[in-house]
Amino acid sequence: MGRVEKDSEDKSFFEKIWTLALHRGFVIPSAEIYGGVAGVYDFGPLGSLLVKKLVDLWRRFFIIEETNFPVYEISGATILPYEVLVASGHVDSFVDPIVVCLKCKKKIRADHLVEEELGVRVEGATIEKLTRMIRENSLRCPDCGGELSEVSLFNLMFKTEIGPLGGKTAFLRPETAQVIFIDFKRIFQVMRGKLPFGIAQVGRAYRNEISPRQGLIRLREFTQMEIEVFINPKESNNYPGIEEVANSKFRVLTREGQLKGGRVVEVTVKEAIEKGVVPNAYMAYYLFKETEFFERIGIPRDKFYFRHMMPEETPFYSGGNFDLEVELSIGVKEVVGNAYRTDYDLKSHMRHSGEDLSVDVDGEKVIPEVIEPSFGVERMVYCILEHCYREDDGRGWSWLQLPPEIAPVTALILPLVKREPLVSKAKELFRTIRKSGVFVEYDDRGSIGKRYARADEIGVPVCVTIDYQTIDDNTVTLRNRDTRNQVRVKGELLQKLLLDLSEGRLTLSALEALQS
Ligand code: AMP
Repeated sequence: MGRVEKDSEDKSFFEKIWTLALHRGFVIPSAEIYGGVAGVYDFGPLGSLLVKKLVDLWRRFFIIEETNFPVYEISGATILPYEVLVASGHVDSFVDPIVVCLKCKKKIRADHLVEEELGVRVEGATIEKLTRMIRENSLRCPDCGGELSEVSLFNLMFKTEIGPLGGKTAFLRPETAQVIFIDFKRIFQVMRGKLPFGIAQVGRAYRNEISPRQGLIRLREFTQMEIEVFINPKESNNYPGIEEVANSKFRVLTREGQLKGGRVVEVTVKEAIEKGVVPNAYMAYYLFKETEFFERIGIPRDKFYFRHMMPEETPFYSGGNFDLEVELSIGVKEVVGNAYRTDYDLKSHMRHSGEDLSVDVDGEKVIPEVIEPSFGVERMVYCILEHCYREDDGRGWSWLQLPPEIAPVTALILPLVKREPLVSKAKELFRTIRKSGVFVEYDDRGSIGKRYARADEIGVPVCVTIDYQTIDDNTVTLRNRDTRNQVRVKGELLQKLLLDLSEGRLTLSALEALQS
């Protein structure tokens, strides 16, 4: 038993971020006008834009710019027949321990209750052990103080039927990965595959969580971005191109480190492979890539690390799992799961379907092994909001320092005052920039200060002001959200500058240095 996540460190900070998310249109409680559904949220206008940019950046990072081996994206169905989930092990083992309050009937996740009340990690404990811990420590219902039932197991999948009147049993997929395994053979064939070979997917997953909570952290419907990298088991340390990243670093909490109290260490990709910190070169590569990606989306490097899961938390078939954990005001949360799934899934689907899922490597039949980085979009969105949130630094309001690449709105186009010819000129610029594919907004309501405040609160990187000088010489002022400094640039440059900013080719400080 090691460290444990503390769930209640700074509830007020969480509340602040959550209120911002709700009030500014990042998130909407689903079916709100009917009282909402626990663990189900919609993304509002700004949330949808942020997610779109986040997913696009992820695609660029992990699919398009991956040139060492092919990675193809698919988009699979979310309903899966019973047989698939029997083969994957979900029907039997995708369960969480549950206790019910005998008085108020509240259903509680038993391991979380024990962890929170007793401050020990109990992942992997049997239901008998959990019942004993609850009884011996006289744990009661956190809501009403009522007595608790024995612990039992609850399967998290949403069950449904395909076809009318007692059709075929099916489930909403609990992870996107299984679709990739069952489609593997055809994708490998049609894309003329060769190992290593990656298949990626962005899509919805469904888990009927016992106690959904903390806004976007534990949901019943959420979005995963996953890659299954199929490798030749004999070549798991031959990641093509590993030399290029050999000296790049990532932070890791080893098993030994956890047993000794939890010290995070920084290792290079090379050290991690040579010293056996990770099971193979592919895992090292992805831990480094994820480090780069998380920094790029605004999570400081010292706020996250990879935790090697302890043996009791790791599935029996796994060759090693590393969770990317982010420090948040509500405790440390897993945001990406990296699993070395070995050949377990393909072998299991071979057994249950009768299909041969091996591939030909130089005339030899090989069942590939799999490395799986699995990202949770909603948790990432929450981490971004929390880590990019800035208190009032003298400007009179709090603000979001979102990296321009993922900011939902790249710029606000503002006439200095709501008068002609400033309004027409500003609207003309707004239309031109929208046509270039950059999402900007036009705002002429209220004082310029209030408009800056609205922009800062939702993390708009640049405010473009059209004033009387613009009419004379076609220059505009650009206000850098981070420094609040303004520069004047030629109007003709604006379209390209904003496009570069929104696609990560230009930083705000480089923009500020551009005085023309
Ligand atoms: P897992 O397959 O459980 O390792 O999940 C992979 C990733 O999906 C996690 O790292 C989370 O980011 C995300 N995830 C898993 N369960 C949930 C949930 N109930 N709500 C939101 N995100 C989740």
